[in-house]
Amino acid sequence: MRIGGAGKLFGTDGVRGVANDELTVEMAVNLGRVIATLRDGTIAVGMDARLSSPMLKSAVIAGITSAGCDVVDLGLLPTPALQYYVKCRKDIKGGVMVTASHNPREYNGIKFIQEDGREFTRDMDEESEKMYMSKTYRIVPWNSVGIVYREDCKRMYIEGVIEKVDRDLIAEKSYRVVLDCGNGAGCVTSPELLRKLGCKCISINSHPDGTFPCRNPEPVKENVEFLIKCVKNSKADIGVAHDGDADRATFVDERGEFVSEDVMLAIMAKHYVEENGGGIVVTPVSSSKCVEDVVREAGGEVVYTAVGSPVVAETMLKLKAVFGGEGNGGLVFPEHLLARDGAMSIAKVLELMAKKGKKLSELAAEIPKYVTLKAKVPCKDKIKLLEGLKEAFPEADFTDGARVEYEDGWILIRPSGTEPIARIMAESKSERRAKELLEMGIEIVKKILNS
Ligand code: MG
Repeated sequence: MRIGGAGKLFGTDGVRGVANDELTVEMAVNLGRVIATLRDGTIAVGMDARLSSPMLKSAVIAGITSAGCDVVDLGLLPTPALQYYVKCRKDIKGGVMVTASHNPREYNGIKFIQEDGREFTRDMDEESEKMYMSKTYRIVPWNSVGIVYREDCKRMYIEGVIEKVDRDLIAEKSYRVVLDCGNGAGCVTSPELLRKLGCKCISINSHPDGTFPCRNPEPVKENVEFLIKCVKNSKADIGVAHDGDADRATFVDERGEFVSEDVMLAIMAKHYVEENGGGIVVTPVSSSKCVEDVVREAGGEVVYTAVGSPVVAETMLKLKAVFGGEGNGGLVFPEHLLARDGAMSIAKVLELMAKKGKKLSELAAEIPKYVTLKAKVPCKDKIKLLEGLKEAFPEADFTDGARVEYEDGWILIRPSGTEPIARIMAESKSERRAKELLEMGIEIVKKILNS
């Protein structure tokens, strides 16, 4: 059972909703009380660049201090920077990030962080939700309220990233990088990171602005046309785009071609397995087969999880995976942090290009080509869908929905965790076959739901 279904507060990525409507100040205060009661120690709080983020951050801080815990206010920063700070500082018992990541501007969200820097697991989110609903959180007397102090951990984060790569090797190449932070939280760290790596950084959309005046915060191909143009015009070696809280990074090669997120995941997974002489790579069932192909060839193994980054991180920890990530630009580098990290993604991709002496397009060309197609079908009855799928595909993998493998492709049919829809994905090396599989998936979902 996935959280985030109808009537649930916590979704696959903490609590999300339209600010001052679905996600209110009152909720933020009580969520602050919940994490303070659960973690009972100093809590770090940070926020992205959204217009409603200072409001919600203040409310979370009010809640935490009213429950008797101290707060370190880290201000505006990427989600992984907050997570890294919580991980490194042993006296910090947890974190709260106010962010709606890639969602449109009217949204905001609240995400809880464990003391090792990972996101809360589903069980922890459920425990939090129970406490929130039953109002069993703590409120302390006037003379026991927590105090708030401010700290800036951006330098610590940037240096933490640089430590994990061969800085001099990258700097020798003097790469020209066009960086598109999308007016999000990455603006306060990624330009400096690139300069410190000895790159020529050309920044676009590089001032934090919660109206997101230039593009939608999701760094998918359709939203980064300006970046593509800039890479071509400036003859850059690479282009990079972040989402709103910079835990994701997507890439454009030196020809101005968008490199699909699955291909980037495969490039890095291949590299990690090669460097480690094998090992486990963890990724959700929705990831392209190209990842498995290259990992296997390099002598490693892919372990699939349900969709969502907390379960990827949890599984990576359990299995001591060498690498992990999602096919949406969210890559996880376990030597740094068990969470998606946009800045680490930039540094590692540049390091790989420098090590191999290859352009990004050349690294991408080494990955097998697949055609991946997606569709949505309205679905109000998730249980009916899942039961129908079990009957239709008894041999499928039910890690998250049903993933059915064929000799020449696969399909994944799963109810969305956040919307009343069924998501269908189909993949094959042949476009015709991928289309055929997708059509079949759509038909089956309709048949199950109309039966
Ligand atoms: Mg994000």
